[in-house]
Amino acid sequence: MKCKRCRRAEAAVELPSHHSAFCPDCFFVFFRRQVTEGIHKLRLLSPEDRVLVCVSGGKDSLVLWDVLMDEGYETEGLYIDLGIDGYSGRSKEKVQAYAASRGKTPIVVELAKEGIPIPEAARCVRMQECSICGTVKRYFFNRVAAERQFTVVATGHNLDDETARLLGNVLHWQRDHLARQHPLLPGADGGLVRKVKPLWRVSEVETAAYGFLKGIDYVTEECPMSEDATSLVYKEALSRIEDRMPGTRIVFYKGFIDPSNPLRKGAEAAAAPEDDAVEDAVGATDADVEERVGTAGACVECGAPTYAETCSYCRLKERVRKARELRAARVAR
Ligand code: SF4
Ligand SMILES: [Zn+2]
Ligand SMILES: [Zn+2]
Repeated sequence: MKCKRCRRAEAAVELPSHHSAFCPDCFFVFFRRQVTEGIHKLRLLSPEDRVLVCVSGGKDSLVLWDVLMDEGYETEGLYIDLGIDGYSGRSKEKVQAYAASRGKTPIVVELAKEGIPIPEAARCVRMQECSICGTVKRYFFNRVAAERQFTVVATGHNLDDETARLLGNVLHWQRDHLARQHPLLPGADGGLVRKVKPLWRVSEVETAAYGFLKGIDYVTEECPMSEDATSLVYKEALSRIEDRMPGTRIVFYKGFIDPSNPLRKGAEAAAAPEDDAVEDAVGATDADVEERVGTAGACVECGAPTYAETCSYCRLKERVRKARELRAARVAR
């Protein structure tokens, strides 16, 4: 099959949802246009922004960083080492190798050094790993951005991630979560940095194809904690629908974020970034959402923006500390 754009080269990527097929060069143009139109339509970024790109070592976040750099945005990558045996080391290597290939050094936060490696912390407080991970990542995204004067935090969520989350929220009629779900979460007084998802218009398949054709070496294994993820069930259901009716995902999502959608009434008021709870925490609950009363104040422990006296991260750390103490006391007995 010939490329539908240049009509000369052989097509390498077929996209039924766009009734199209592209050769590698034309696919790069198509993909970048999808991303930049998604950015401009929702005013996610401006040329003056300093963008902190959260990179996990997976394809989506590395592709996002790649496209933003190619588009001329000022960016740095932030990698959070979750302290998961084997997996964290391998994903960090991918991030470092990619960053080096672009003349960059990623900012690295090691949760083991912070005293809160995810698997051990989850065991201590008997919570799901993903739930803890959501709280901790959200905290460091904002803290690093605020400390280092970034104007915006960007994550690599794609259309498949966003529609899976949307389907889950609709099936359970999570109206407050629906009101907060959007590729743009504005910043707020008190040090809450704006958060954006510039890949909201491109699918996982498109992102993978871009990464592969560009020669980006990413970690292909899933996080071992994601095995029970309910969002994978929603993704699978949507993939089956998409196979039969190409284009359904984007129609579903665009209709949802349309400002005239009654489900998003009051979304502006509800879209406090602090409440962007565990959005990429596959299968996690939003149980750690903080109560919002008025504007954010400073956490009495760490100074981070919070709507409570102590932020959810410090509360979690305190629970882990107490659980460790209890365990040590039991062992000593
Ligand atoms: S699956 Fe995602 S949210 Fe869960 S522990 Fe792994 S990286 Fe964190
Ligand atoms: Zn072509
Ligand atoms: Zn705190």
